[in-house]
Order: sequence, then structure tokens, then C-alpha cells
Amino acid sequence: MPDATTPPGAGRYAPSPSGDLHLGNLRTALLAWVLARRTGRAFRLRVEDLDRVKEGSEQRQLEDLTALGLDWDGAVVRQSERGPSYAEAIAALEDQGRVFECYCTRREILEAPSAPHAPPGAYPGTCRDLGAAAREQGRVRMHELRREPALRLRTDVASWQVQDLWAGEVTGTVDDLVLRRGDGVVAYNLAVVVDDAAAGVDQVVRADDLLSSAPRQAHLAHLLGLAEPGYAHVPLAVNAEGARLAKRDGAVTLRDRRERGEAAAEVVEQIGHSLGVVGCRSAHDLLERWDPATLPRHPWTVELPH
Ligand code: GLU
Repeated sequence: MPDATTPPGAGRYAPSPSGDLHLGNLRTALLAWVLARRTGRAFRLRVEDLDRVKEGSEQRQLEDLTALGLDWDGAVVRQSERGPSYAEAIAALEDQGRVFECYCTRREILEAPSAPHAPPGAYPGTCRDLGAAAREQGRVRMHELRREPALRLRTDVASWQVQDLWAGEVTGTVDDLVLRRGDGVVAYNLAVVVDDAAAGVDQVVRADDLLSSAPRQAHLAHLLGLAEPGYAHVPLAVNAEGARLAKRDGAVTLRDRRERGEAAAEVVEQIGHSLGVVGCRSAHDLLERWDPATLPRHPWTVELPH
């Protein structure tokens, strides 16, 4: 097994255990594995179980990935076990004077007039420069609401550029993003950055609904003195109406398909077909036959059995 810290690095798949993986998730996982193996990288599996955990889901997801023919290097990493590493990263940012407490509710942020040129929903900077008295007031208010203040990053850039295998150079907004939420849970953006770096991940393959998060994450890596990974964002899977694929659309998981008498190989074949590879029956087959340059750049409209 390649060492996590030596080139050529690692790829990964990082599902949230909130339910069974659907065809879109399985396709992204396969592509992440293929891209890593193709380039001689290790492949890591990380369970993003900081919230939205459904009992038994992790086990089922791992079984389904194995059934597709995926394997991974080293132990499965669970975010719920990585608290000390996240705390260390927040402390490092605090040492740089880059962390501030935020007392705003979600609603207040949405209703606040946004800064000029800021995209809708970007943090308007309300708590960034509060004096000691205002901070004390904020803490009292949080106490009454039985919440902790959220911790936010004090950024001094407005945007950051990342490199995506398919989208090329992508520049996106960086705002004063949340590092730790008001309920005490570490924010997704921080956890991802810390975990990818710790696992030697230098190639992040995932669905393209996260493309707009990549500049924030890469910037955070930069501030933490960590290497910024390359990205490869895969178009989402959608139903016949063009909406994001969901459970209610029908037989969308490996288990649904199995109940209909289909084998995993048939699901791989359908995924391969969506990638322009005909008659591909296993992950290894895809590894040998798929050319990453041919990835369709539009969402995958999944055809489901009736
Ligand atoms: N856990 C996220 C998801 O399942 C993916 C996060 C990532 O790949 O960075 O959508």
C-alpha cells in the first residue's frame, strides 16, 4: 500500500451515511476509484458522520461499494472520531487571529443587507469586528437561546481559484465561512480540508453540487499550510424531469435493483453506459476502458426500470 505522505498521493470517496447510495452516488464513487487507481494513487474511504446519520447506513454503503468492486487502502476513517484534529486546526487559525465568534441566527444572516458584490447568502460580516461589550452581549443572547456562538473564519480574500479536471480553472467566492456551528458541530468545510490533508488526498472527486465549495476549502487549506488538492467534479444524476435523483424516483439503489433480480454487474453496466462504455460489467473493466476525457459534462438523466 502506498504511504499516505509520499507521491503520488491519494483519491477518496467520502459519503454521508444518511441513507443508501443511489445510482448517482455509485457512479461518482466508481469514477473516484477509477481516477485514483488509474494514476497509481491510493484510494481512501471516509464516512462523513458528523450529522444526518442514519442507523446502519454506513455498513450498507460500504457493502454496496464493495459489491461494485471498489476497494480502498487503510482503515475507513470516521469524522465522528476526528474531533481533536479539527480542534487543532481551529486553534491554529485562532493563533493567526483568523477566528471570530458569530451570534447571528440563520434568519438574521439571510435578512441582513449583503455587502456590495457579495453573492446572495454570503455572510454579511455582522459579527466580524464587534467590540468586547457587543461580544459579551452576544454570548448572553446565545446562552438564552441555549446555543454556542458559531465560529467563523476571518478571511481577507473575496475569491480563490481551484483547478478542476473537467471545469478547468474555477474561481469562486470565499466568505467568512463557518468553522464550528452553533450546535457545536464542526463545519463540513473545515472537516473535509483537515481530513483530506491528513489522508494524503490530492485528488478530490465528488459530485458537482460541491464545485462552488471547492474555492473555500482550498483557501482554508492554504491558510492551514496544507497542500491544496486538485478537483474533479462529476455532474449530478437527475430523474426524467431533470430534478436531482432521489429515493422516490424508483429503483435507484443497488439494493432496489437486487430486489428486482439484477446483479451489481448490471448496475455497473448502466453506469458504464452513461459514460459511453458499452458492456462494461465490473469496476476493473471500467478502469481499463473508460477515458476520463470523455466524461459527459451535463447531468446524467437516469433511466429507471418500470
Ligand atoms: N459527504 C459529502 C456527500 O456525501 C461529500 C463531501 C465531499 O466529497 O467533499 O455529499
